[in-house]
Amino acid sequence: MEKFLKAKLKNGRFENVSADRSKIMSCIPGRRNRSTEIALRFEFVRAGIRGWKMHFGIAGRPDFFFPKQSLAVFVDGCFWHGCPRCGHIPKTRTPFWAAKIMRNQKRDGANLRLLRSQGIRVVRFWEHTLASPSGRRHAVEHVRALLKAS
Ligand SMILES: [Zn+2]
Repeated sequence: MEKFLKAKLKNGRFENVSADRSKIMSCIPGRRNRSTEIALRFEFVRAGIRGWKMHFGIAGRPDFFFPKQSLAVFVDGCFWHGCPRCGHIPKTRTPFWAAKIMRNQKRDGANLRLLRSQGIRVVRFWEHTLASPSGRRHAVEHVRALLKAS
């Protein structure tokens, strides 16, 4: 749960929420992958990569945007963006979640086309790829190569 929400709620939780419901809610990961994003940012700093803006106001608000090189970097949460490897749809209210995830995927596609039409290159990383230090290093090298190629 988001920190600010926790601080606002009595005892850090919603009241009048059944144990079942509460369990379901805790299984839904956050929409923004703050921790993954922070880990990647740290890796960029360590690699001496600079010049990005966070959540810049272009289509999809990429996690990182390098304006000079017109490169947008997205960190896609496996759940919300329907990762084929680990994204799973909760067993309760399946159509609800399936529709939500499908809508996100459609939006991702539309944003990709829009950004490309504006001459912006797009690279996406799955949350699970960035979960390991080696995955992050690999991602950073990929970004570095793209920045150099511009
Ligand atoms: Zn995944």
